[in-house]
Amino acid sequence: MADAINLLVLPGDGIGDEAIAQVRRIIDWVGNQRGINFNVEEDLVGGCAIDAHGTSLTDDCMDKALAADAVLLGAVGGPKWDNVPFDIRPEAGLLRLRKEMELFANLRPAMCFDALVDASSLKPELVSGLDIMIVRELTGGVYFGEPRGITELPDGQRQGVNTQVYTTEEIRRVVRVAFDIAKQRDGKVTSCEKANVMESGILWREETNWVHDNEAEYAEIELSHMYADNAAMQLVRMPKQFDVMVTDNLFGDILSDAAAMLTGSLGMLPSASLGAAVDGGRPKAMYEPVHGSAPDIAGQDLANPIASVLSFAMALRYSFDLGEEADMVEKAIENVLAAGYRTGDIMQPGMTQTGTTGMGDAILAELDKLAA
Ligand code: NAD
Repeated sequence: MADAINLLVLPGDGIGDEAIAQVRRIIDWVGNQRGINFNVEEDLVGGCAIDAHGTSLTDDCMDKALAADAVLLGAVGGPKWDNVPFDIRPEAGLLRLRKEMELFANLRPAMCFDALVDASSLKPELVSGLDIMIVRELTGGVYFGEPRGITELPDGQRQGVNTQVYTTEEIRRVVRVAFDIAKQRDGKVTSCEKANVMESGILWREETNWVHDNEAEYAEIELSHMYADNAAMQLVRMPKQFDVMVTDNLFGDILSDAAAMLTGSLGMLPSASLGAAVDGGRPKAMYEPVHGSAPDIAGQDLANPIASVLSFAMALRYSFDLGEEADMVEKAIENVLAAGYRTGDIMQPGMTQTGTTGMGDAILAELDKLAA
C-alpha cells in the first residue's frame, strides 16, 4: 500500500459534526475499496474548542493542521458563542488556520447537477451541465491593503479608506493555481479585473499574461481577460461560456457568491483553499463546505451532507491526485439525486425526503454499485 495520506478532520459546530460524520463513512469506503491508506485524525475548532480549551483553535491543533496533507473542516459558530470576547470567537480559529497555512487561493466550483436544474434561479437550459471553477485570491487585495481606516478631515467630514494592493508574485501564484486546475479541465481560463479603471487591474492583466507567455507548461491554456463587471453580467446571462475564472479577493468574493446561486442550495456547495507547496510536496490545503453551522437545523438529522462530501471529493482531486476516486464520489451523488433522494433543503414535489444519515447511506449504496 502507498504512503499514508494524513487527513486532519475538524467537524466544528452545529451541522458540521453531522455532515462530517457522513464524510468519515465515505473516507472509509474510499480507503477500503480503493486500497488507500487514509490516516485520519480528528480535533476541535470553533465553539466546541472554546468550550473544551477556552480558545477556538489550540496551538496543538494548529501544528497538526500544518503537518497534515490536508484539512477537512465542517463549520464553526452558533448562538451559544455569540457573546464570547471578539478575539476568541469561533471564526477566529478558522481565520488562524487560513492565515498560518497561507491559503492564498480559494476554489469555489459552481456545478449544477441535472436533477437539480429547477432549483436554480436561471432557466434550466442555461444551467444544465454547468461546471465552472472560480479561483479567488484570498490573502491580498483591498481587504488587507494599507493604508486603511476611517479618519476625520479638517472640514469635519469623515473619510473611509481601503487600499487595493497586489504584487507580482501574489498575482502570479494564484494565476498558476488557476492554470493548473484548467489543465485538469477544459483548459480555458478567464481572468477578471478592472484594468480599464484600476492600476492594480492593469498589473493583474500584465502578470497573468506573463505567466501564460513565459511558463511553458501553460502555453496550451486558452487565456482570455474580462472586466469584472462584465463577468458578473455574463455569469447570469450565459454561465456555461466559462471554465475556470481567476480573480482578486474582492471581485472573487462577489463573483463566487453569484455563481453559487446558479446552482441552487447552500447545502450543495463545496470549497477548497490552497497554499504553497512545501519543499516540492503537496500544497497546504483546507477543504470545507460553503455553508455555516446552521444552528436552526443542527442535531435533527436534517442537514444536507453533500457540500461536505463534495469538499472531500475536491481533496481527492486537488491534494491527492485521486481524480478517478473523486469522479466516483461525484457520480454517486449525481446518481442519488437522479434517483430522487433529497434532504429538506433541496426537496421537490414527488421526490423522496431523507435525512443526513439517509443521504450518507444512499451515497454509499451508489458507491457500492459503481464499484461492482
Ligand atoms: P448557514 O450557512 O449556517 O445557514 C443559512 C441557512 O441555510 C439556514 O437556514 C440553514 O439551515 C441552511 N443550511 C445551511 N447549510 C445547510 C445544509 N448543509 N443543509 C441544509 N440546510 C442548510 O448561515 P448562517 O445561518 O448565517 O450562520 C449560522 C452560523 O454559522 C453563524 O454562527 C455563522 O457565523 C456561522 N458560519 C460559519 C461559516 C463557516 O464555518 N465557514 C460560514 C458561514 C456562517
